[in-house]
Amino acid sequence: MNLVLTGPPGAGKGTQCRRLVEKYGLTHLSSGDILRVEMNAGTELGELAKKYIDQGQLVPDEIVIKMMVGAIVKSGYNYLLDGFPRTSNQALQLDKSLEGDLSVEAVIVLEVADERVIDRLSRRRICPVCSRVYDDLSLRPIRDGHCDSDGALLVQRSDDKPDVIKKRLETYHERTAPVIEYYEKTGVKMAKIDGSLNVDQVASGVSAFVESLSI
Ligand code: AMP
Repeated sequence: MNLVLTGPPGAGKGTQCRRLVEKYGLTHLSSGDILRVEMNAGTELGELAKKYIDQGQLVPDEIVIKMMVGAIVKSGYNYLLDGFPRTSNQALQLDKSLEGDLSVEAVIVLEVADERVIDRLSRRRICPVCSRVYDDLSLRPIRDGHCDSDGALLVQRSDDKPDVIKKRLETYHERTAPVIEYYEKTGVKMAKIDGSLNVDQVASGVSAFVESLSI
């Protein structure tokens, strides 16, 4: 099973991905996570990506496509794409680069209104050591402001600041919403799920769809 999970920033993609990985043993490939690892390591790719990420802009297609196709080929089938493809060109190039067992089989769209996204993201905090994400929705730290696993002081992602969130949402509507139209045209199986429900309700909608794929 090869899946794409998409939706606006703050839709709960990361949380639902963790559940899908646990339940179905998929390999989680998050373009944002891969770029942040590069940024934290100070690689050439990371330095380049940071310029775009900190402004809420998309990293250029050619860089991300190469990076993600490489990650998919390395992981093999049974993957779950998170945050990629984010433009219709990325979706098209992905389809051209993958065939057979590695092709995208189904797309899950988490739908959440802009006001809810702004509210969720401005309260999100991340552990700079283990990258665990804390928010009111899925996980609250036991000790306020500190990571449950390593005690590190939680920080706000540089792109979760209000003006950058606004820009990311604009970018989503302009450039990522067309990815959904792209997949609708190709006829790939798709589920649109209300991401404003609570985590368990969203997860059961996602699971019902995933299980319908193997029937
Ligand atoms: P995310 O963690 O998915 O919210 O991604 C954080 C940031 O990384 C985005 O706002 C973009 O700047 C960049 N990014 C992640 N995935 C992609 C992608 N598929 N294409 C272009 N830029 C991306």
